[in-house]
Amino acid sequence: MEEGTEEPTEVRLLMFTRLFTFTVRVLIVLLLLLLCQFYLNIHGISAIYAKSSDLSSELYEQLMLGKRIYPANQEKKTYTKPTQPTVYLTFDDGPSIQTPKVLEILKKDKIKATFFMVGKMAEEHPELVKQVFIAGHTIGNHTYNHVYKQLYNRNLLEFWRQIQQTEKILYSICGIKPELVRAPGGTYTHFDAFYYYDMDEAGYTMMDWNMDSSDSSRANVPADEIVAKIKGSTLNHEVILLMHDGTGHGQTVQALPEIIAYFKKLGYAFAPLTTTVKPVQAPLSPNKPKSPYSYEQFIEQEERVKQDILQRLKRPVILPIGASLLGVTAVLLDGTSLLPDLALP
Ligand SMILES: [Zn+2]
Repeated sequence: MEEGTEEPTEVRLLMFTRLFTFTVRVLIVLLLLLLCQFYLNIHGISAIYAKSSDLSSELYEQLMLGKRIYPANQEKKTYTKPTQPTVYLTFDDGPSIQTPKVLEILKKDKIKATFFMVGKMAEEHPELVKQVFIAGHTIGNHTYNHVYKQLYNRNLLEFWRQIQQTEKILYSICGIKPELVRAPGGTYTHFDAFYYYDMDEAGYTMMDWNMDSSDSSRANVPADEIVAKIKGSTLNHEVILLMHDGTGHGQTVQALPEIIAYFKKLGYAFAPLTTTVKPVQAPLSPNKPKSPYSYEQFIEQEERVKQDILQRLKRPVILPIGASLLGVTAVLLDGTSLLPDLALP
């Protein structure tokens, strides 16, 4: 009996030990699996989501503080400083009936300038857009309707929408997607950190000015007053001069030859703006950002902007045959040519 009862006890003990060892092993394996899972959660896929949402909310907080943030996707831009003092003549609000007169004066002096066009005006005068383009001037984007109340109404989406609309119009006329943008009235007090962030993200360059002709300080500013204002302004090595070629700016046209003569006498070169010219950008207003939207609205807006950027990239830059760079005639996307006498071979 004793032997009989002792043997099963030993067997039971052995079984118990084996079961215990097995359970401990299973527990260790489970523990290791749990640790792996924990590690993956920290460093794996979940971490990417966490990181990106952290970044967005962090970005939102910083933009709400009114800080200018440069998007990660943008490389640091480099600019070329001209050796000779240079003036960049800029004409806003056209094209209009004044534009051909401006073009004529510029042509006579072999000067290339920059025209920040309003989409609505470009739509009404596609032939003038073509003339400006073919003459080799730079075309910039100046929104679609220039209405401050709509553009700066505490929401950058309307500004953004108008930039896209104008770009599509200019693209349909001469195949360009202007990278240079001038905010109506300038960026100062109009732009907050959110506006700058999205424009930077899309690769646009905002271009304010460092000399104002004050030709739009009221209606019909007389030509001699415009000239006097320019002559009394501080000179920089690079001057970005604000003028207008909108409908009511006949006086600017009248003043233009004297303005050109003034800069020539001072030894200035004339050049069109490009993306390698260091832009003049007003600092952000010290006031709080104008965009009081919630974080959710911000994310929604970023989505919309990103979609538009993708659409924009899909539009290839189609160089018209014989682009005006070499002074030859240009055949535009619609097959028209403004200089048929110089038809291409
Ligand atoms: Zn304007």
